[in-house]
Amino acid sequence: MLEQLSFLQTNVNHSAGAQDLLLQSMAEWQVDLAVACEPYFVPPLPHWLGVLTRSGTAPPLSLIERGSGYVVVGWGEYVVVGTHFLRTRCVPRESPLGVGGSHRRADRQGVMVACVSDPVAPAERRRGYRVRNTVNTCTSTTGAATQLFASAINFLAATQCIIPERQRHYAGDHETYDFIIIGGGSAGSVVASRLSEIKKWNILLLEAGSEPPIESDIPYLGQYLFQSKYDWQYYTQNDGVKHQALKAGSVYWPRGKMLGGCSSMNGMIYVRGRDCDFQAWENAGNPNWTPENVNFYFKKAESLQDNELLKDPDIRDTYGYDGPQVINTFNITYREITEKVLESWDYIGFKRVADINAHGFNGLGISGILRSTAANGRRYSTYRSYLDPNRKRKNLKIVTNAFVTKVLITGNSHAYGVEVDIMKQKKTFYANFEVILSAGSVNTPQLLMLSGIGPAEHLLSKNISCIVNLPAVGRNLHDHSLIPIAIYGDDPGQENKEEKLFEVTKYMYNRTGLLAHNIITDISAFFSRNPDMAYPEFQSHLTVIRKNSQSIKNFFHNYQDDTQKSFIEFNTKKALYLFQFNLLHPLSRGSIYLKTSNPYDHPIINGNYFSEIRDLEATVDGIKMLTEIVNTPYFKSINAFVQRVNIPQCNKYDFKSDSYWQCYAINTCSTVYHPVGTAKMGPNPRDSVVNNFLKVYGVMRLRVIDASIMPSITSGNTNAPTIMIGEMGSDMIKAEYLSHY
Ligand SMILES: Cc1cc2nc3c(=O)[nH]c(=O)nc-3n(C[C@H](O)[C@H](O)[C@H](O)COP(=O)(O)OP(=O)(O)OC[C@H]3O[C@@H](n4cnc5c(N)ncnc54)[C@H](O)[C@@H]3O)c2cc1C
Repeated sequence: MLEQLSFLQTNVNHSAGAQDLLLQSMAEWQVDLAVACEPYFVPPLPHWLGVLTRSGTAPPLSLIERGSGYVVVGWGEYVVVGTHFLRTRCVPRESPLGVGGSHRRADRQGVMVACVSDPVAPAERRRGYRVRNTVNTCTSTTGAATQLFASAINFLAATQCIIPERQRHYAGDHETYDFIIIGGGSAGSVVASRLSEIKKWNILLLEAGSEPPIESDIPYLGQYLFQSKYDWQYYTQNDGVKHQALKAGSVYWPRGKMLGGCSSMNGMIYVRGRDCDFQAWENAGNPNWTPENVNFYFKKAESLQDNELLKDPDIRDTYGYDGPQVINTFNITYREITEKVLESWDYIGFKRVADINAHGFNGLGISGILRSTAANGRRYSTYRSYLDPNRKRKNLKIVTNAFVTKVLITGNSHAYGVEVDIMKQKKTFYANFEVILSAGSVNTPQLLMLSGIGPAEHLLSKNISCIVNLPAVGRNLHDHSLIPIAIYGDDPGQENKEEKLFEVTKYMYNRTGLLAHNIITDISAFFSRNPDMAYPEFQSHLTVIRKNSQSIKNFFHNYQDDTQKSFIEFNTKKALYLFQFNLLHPLSRGSIYLKTSNPYDHPIINGNYFSEIRDLEATVDGIKMLTEIVNTPYFKSINAFVQRVNIPQCNKYDFKSDSYWQCYAINTCSTVYHPVGTAKMGPNPRDSVVNNFLKVYGVMRLRVIDASIMPSITSGNTNAPTIMIGEMGSDMIKAEYLSHY
């Protein structure tokens, strides 16, 4: 957050009394950052807000730059700080914040918003708040204007509904439900919503995280959920060979820990995958997962809201319109640039199409603007689309901060309940019919193993008694790798700070502008080496970083210093077109195993990217195809070039040679966040975890419904297929239990 605020102007000093008071409270409350305002003395806005950190050094900031378009108000129920909207609640007068005055603090971990009553005398106080730098100051006020602005902002925030409602459910120990769902992520939210349509069933949804914060709702701010308490913050194991350009030689795997799971923090890109992906699932012995069935469930999920696109009959026929999952097209602020890139992709044979999902894959490749799980400047995670609208159902109980530590299984292998840690209290819940695991590709295999289902030897090595020996649990891990391809060019120029700040006001006004879309662009290319192939081998996303960008570090903070520096230094004079290259169908397989039998310990993730040499060869071929873009009219016109990046291990190779690209790919490879396959669906328990109906082999009444069941990864981003899995899995349960009970 400090980074977020660091652009703001310096012109306020707090009086020592107020500072001390805040620092003391911050230390007591373990708060890292506080925003203080003065409730009595009401000079113009810039004068009465400041930021403190716990270290005691107050970054000398005022939170408003006059005319910047940023609005910072500390009045009424909401305190609005820059782009962060913090819901506040009153705390008692005798709180650590001091005596007298009104006290407020954000109901939010790590950040405090406090209206302090300064214990110093009014005259002194006034002096303390006096603005030193008169160039940027506002005129004085009687306070009326301030209050008016504050009310207006509160009104806007409230009417735009950008402040999420919170509602909590509690579950008593030893309660019994018909179905217990573990994990309210992309799939779990779908399952909870669909099963609770059956009024006679009682559903319990247990989610380890909490409600998603406001940063989840505002598309551009999703990036601030990374490395926060809303992220499980996994890392792959360092194998000493790969990923050495990344810090600690390991790949950071963010995973959503909140309702909506990863769909509450993902890039919102909506790509179904190709029919042949699902044909492959069927061919592998999963008869229900035909392209026809799968497309039925995609449609059932979808509500496409882009009226322009709906005029196209092919697109209209492809999508569903009355499902819960809102889908639309971002109103991107840099459309001019993305149009140029699409033209260029088209030029090198990745033909532009109106909609990737509606268009068949043919020729060398296709490209286009992607659909997103967002509309009207708001993210539509599965939490927003499926769960939130139905959370008042009497037969659906959603318990957050509920970390499931074990699935309970009887001696004759029936799952009958779960053990849960809810705010440090151990509770047990029982299931009449089924326990459904929707904890995602990392936590689902972990929880299976903790519950005694997995490779017997491994479980025994962790002192876990093996109930079902299922060797495939945790295997078949695969992911879409990400190789950053840096192309620099003369355009676009430097970012205009004022314009950027104005974007925030735009968002407050009508939810448009920069904040209304994700941080990467919404265009993508899918391509293959062989023009006869029925599916794409590669995908590319694009991020455009303007010249001398202040935020470029965010994109490379996971890289070692040398490499990071090298990416950044060219940006001081050139714009960076960062093409994220993904290999869509890797043959390499990794694994997830327990580090210990302690459920709170992260499991060991062996990404094992590029263990299959063919993956590396394909990647090199794909990178060469992608970098052809520098030879297109637009990229030539901006003098674009592919830049050699400083990676010590690769400096011995000729730039752009196969050896260079191989070395580059191995060392810079990270993830586009699509791990799947760790509870593989298949006909044979020797190499699969669940059957065609997603039932765990060897255990009755236990199913897995999430991305981990994918036998093989789809040709694109994995959220849409995971939602589809949630839909089809729910119908399988309904079909089974409604016919029997
Ligand atoms: C940063 C990021 C960007 C992405 N971008 C895109 C994109 O733009 N488009 C796209 O299609 N895909 C994207 N993906 C991938 C996509 O979001 C995932 O494939 C999909 O969300 C996986 O869904 P899931 O239901 O399997 O797991 P999740 O959504 O991860 O849900 C699992 C849920 O279970 C909870 N849980 C886990 N363990 C426990 C436990 N023991 N007890 C209780 N609850 C538990 C978790 O907190 C979580 O809420 C992205 C992913 C990430 C992380």
